Amino acid sequence: MSHSAGQLPVSLPPHFAYSSGQLHIDGVELDALARAHGTPLFVYSKAAMLSALSAYQRGLKGRDHQICYAMKANSTLAILQTLVQAGCGLDIVSGGELERALTAGVAPSKVIFSGVGKTRPEMRRALEVGIGCFNVESTAELDVLDEVARGMGLRAPVSIRVNPNVDPKTHPYISTGLKGNKFGIAHEEVLATYRHAAACSGLRVVGIDCHIGSQITEAAPYMDAMDRMLDLVDAIEAAGIPIEHLDLGGGLGIDYNGETPPDAGALWQALLQKLDTRGYGQRKIVIEPGRSLVGNAGACLTEVLYLKPGEQKNFLIVDAAMNDLPRPAMYQAFHKIVPLSPRDALAMKTWDVVGPVCESGDWIGRDRALDVQAGDRLAVLAAGAYCMSMASNYNTRGRAAEVLVDGGTSTLIRMRESTADQLRLESLLPVA
Ligand SMILES: *Cc1c(COP(=O)(O)O)cnc(C)c1O
Repeated sequence: MSHSAGQLPVSLPPHFAYSSGQLHIDGVELDALARAHGTPLFVYSKAAMLSALSAYQRGLKGRDHQICYAMKANSTLAILQTLVQAGCGLDIVSGGELERALTAGVAPSKVIFSGVGKTRPEMRRALEVGIGCFNVESTAELDVLDEVARGMGLRAPVSIRVNPNVDPKTHPYISTGLKGNKFGIAHEEVLATYRHAAACSGLRVVGIDCHIGSQITEAAPYMDAMDRMLDLVDAIEAAGIPIEHLDLGGGLGIDYNGETPPDAGALWQALLQKLDTRGYGQRKIVIEPGRSLVGNAGACLTEVLYLKPGEQKNFLIVDAAMNDLPRPAMYQAFHKIVPLSPRDALAMKTWDVVGPVCESGDWIGRDRALDVQAGDRLAVLAAGAYCMSMASNYNTRGRAAEVLVDGGTSTLIRMRESTADQLRLESLLPVA
């Protein structure tokens, strides 16, 4: 518990701490960053990302493996670069992400391409640069990829994404491994799909893949998914189709509000034990973690614009909004909100923290006890994943700036988007 005199105790993510009445990230004062760069401002700890990564690396130590960071969680170049330099490959879901990945310096062979709707030009570009694997989600996609690769005189490396039909016990919008959602190929069709792929001269089967959901806070769904996947590998290899790697996807949750997901290292120790027991101990492992590498490494700093106390609700209007922090509006997600410089809590009140966007869905936190005045600054915690990468220009709001803190120094890694940046691609109609 880290808290300042008078304020309600709030447990902070690692790398965040109060000292001398000011919230710091790795020893850097957040209020100073907000004054220097303005708000809303995303701030990330490089050490926090590397420490989250090292939990996976510890768990997988001594095994043939590749950690492919699912870059849709946060695709800012300097963040990709940080994880790539630490050994990560990248899991991409679009041609745009492929270009970002290459710009960040990833070896194309460490890129895997996921997603249900890859287009021909995206496939062509990924084949041209030589990515490591396409995770294919339907027979129709398999056939198009085969045709595109043959047209280039190449064989596309493929995994088939299987839908293991296990319940990850998470929010329905971020559950992907149950029957009845659009992801993956149903368990009972997998063998036939592999036979089909193996017979295509433009394809080379390299692996099998599943990804059961996001913000998973228990080990059991992973253990079940692994078992279901290995049952399939037994059958596929019995049919004479070798599987080089097993990809268990991503999805491990983080602590937003007291959740206690398993430690990545411990989870993998248990999963490796299962692999050993089932005779797959030597098989290459691929994983695609996103949120768990970056989520708790970042915060969004915002300034209180107005206090609007009311009969039923007190509203705290801040300068960050749903276009910066879409998770509450999209998933009713919870983010802790803490003051950068706590007051004495003499005037603690319960507030709904809301943004300036013209939507009732534009809220960031509900019923939060805070002692604040206009001009105070707050940190929205655990904002490293699925915030900046989902940010929009709704209400013609420029996207926020971003800063990376590394060992006591801070670097601006993305400038605040100006209105001119937003207007650049548009044109007025010619004057009649
Ligand atoms: C989103 C996604 C991931 C990453 O999920 P997290 O919950 O952020 O770890 C991994 N693989 C695929 C296919 C995804 O769509």
